[in-house]
Formats: sequence, C-alpha cells, structure tokens
Amino acid sequence: MSKQYSTTEPTTEYHDEEPQSSDGTTEPSVPSPLTGEQLPHLRATLADASHLLVCLDFDGTLAPIVDEPDAAALTAANDAAVASLAAAAPVTTAIVSGRSLADVRTRVDDPRIYAGNHGLELAWDDSIGIHPAASERATRVETVCETLETVLDPIPNARVENKRLTGTVHVRTVPAGARPVVRRLTRTVVDRFGDGDLELSPGKRILEIGPDVNWGKGDAVDLIRAELPDDTVPIYIGDDVTDESAFRAVEPAGIGICVGSTAPSAASYRVDSPDDVARVLEWLSASGVSLVGTGSDTGGYGDASLRTDPELQSDDDRGFDGVPKQWSASVAND
Ligand SMILES: [Mg+2]
Repeated sequence: MSKQYSTTEPTTEYHDEEPQSSDGTTEPSVPSPLTGEQLPHLRATLADASHLLVCLDFDGTLAPIVDEPDAAALTAANDAAVASLAAAAPVTTAIVSGRSLADVRTRVDDPRIYAGNHGLELAWDDSIGIHPAASERATRVETVCETLETVLDPIPNARVENKRLTGTVHVRTVPAGARPVVRRLTRTVVDRFGDGDLELSPGKRILEIGPDVNWGKGDAVDLIRAELPDDTVPIYIGDDVTDESAFRAVEPAGIGICVGSTAPSAASYRVDSPDDVARVLEWLSASGVSLVGTGSDTGGYGDASLRTDPELQSDDDRGFDGVPKQWSASVAND
C-alpha cells in the first residue's frame, strides 16, 4: 500500500453506509467482499496506476452459468457496467474466455480486446492473431470433436462443441451416473486421435480439449498488458480453474477477483456471483477510475497535461500493430 494512500485515505470509511466522495456525491456501495481491508488496498492500487487493464471472463463471471451454453447472456447490470468502463479513458477492457473468439464477440459489445479459446486467439481492434501451434492442430481438434459426436451420441445430453482451436464436451445436464463414462470415452478419443498433440483438461461441468501447448489465459493477459503503458495495473475477474493462470499473471501487483468459488485461488479477492461482479465494475466506473494516478509521482491521469502524453493516451493512437507480434497475425473480422 502506498504511503500517500495510507496517509490520505482512511481505511474504514467504506462499509455498509453510502460513502461520500470528495465532491460530496454518493459513491455506489461496493460488494461486502471488497470492504474491510480489501477496499483500501484496491483504492491504493488504483491510485498508483497510470492506466487500468480490466480483463473479464464471460461464463460464470459476466453471465450466470446456464444449462444450455448457447443461452448464456451477460446480465443487464454487467452489460451497462462493461460499456461504462470501456468508455473510460484510463481503462482498457478485455474479455478473456474459453469460448471461441467468434462466439464471445457476439455476446459482449464494448471491450476493445477479446481473447478467445483460453487466449489462443486474440482480437485487438480489427486485427486477429492465432497461436501458431493451435492453428496447426485445429484439424486434429476437429477430428476429435467429430469422433466424439458419434461416440457420445448415445449418452443423454452429452454435447460436443467444436470451437475450431479447441473443443468442449458439455456434461452439465448429463445424468450424474453417466459423467464418468463421458470422461472415460473422451479421454480415450483424445488419446487415440490427438496423436500426443492434444490435451484434456477439466472445467466447470465441461471437458476441454486443446493443443498441448504451454499457453493459457494468463499468457494472453501478459501479452495484452505488455502493449499498455508501464504503470498499467491489471485487474482480472474470473470463476474457473482456467482463470487461475490469469490470477497469477495479475497478482500481486494487480487485482485478481475470483467469482463464486471457495476453492483455493491465486486471486486475493472473492465475490459471490455475476451480480457482485457488476457491483465491482460499477464501483470501478463510478469511483475507482477517478482514483487512477492520484497516488503516482507524475500527478496522475487526472492531470490534464498528462492527457496529451502519448504513453498515457489510452487507445486509438497507440499503434498496436497486429496481434501478438510473434504470432501469425491476419487482419480479419468474423
Ligand atoms: Mg468462466
């Protein structure tokens, strides 16, 4: 916690009552998990930043988990909060999802960056980059998915989703007694047709099939973070085991927020639900953003003179050239 913050911001003022901001207006209340010792830390972290990178998982984070994955939709409150944050000058927003890029881009409108397939494909403005190893193995993923569609067809509600670079077997609505069979059959097919190039990993009532490469959501977050100003503080909010690499990527300098799980996590903050996520995002937009830079030696993003500094100009002129420079990038839209 910065000295400046600790001497200027009382640590006990933000609890259940509607707190007053410095200009006398009422700040939106924040979820109880972010009161106590955590909110002052969050405020101090924001004050020391010149820019925020807000990375958000989709399912279970912005959108409640539902039985039918195609029906998942972000809550109205999260829709509005993401739009508000995306419009804030010192903020870059990114969606980091296990869904395919094409899929997740249809579900959230406003962020500038989208990482699909657990970070194996990345869209930044109109440029799209694909991890080369994932690109090479897409045909193998397709073969595995097609085989699984046949093999799992007799099992009620087992559904195979081919996301091009990865595949997902959905078991949420499969009868509990049949789930071990789905896992065993999926393992068998991946081993037989993956030819050692694919791996199988579990998620929340899903099995993920993807290229056996050392790359995940955390790597995507690192990649995005590297393109932003040096004093950017990353925030990552997610709910699943695949989000843990992203929590490790942002902690401890940044903020990891785990949603709806009591399992051990690298995230230092926890909230209960997508509704709580909306409250956090609303607080960031209404109050947190105004703290950005207020504790830095440079005087902060709120200093009008700094708004002309190209390093602090958040977006349009930064000249991000393609997507990960080491990836084969192509300019394309869905
Ligand atoms: Mg999720």
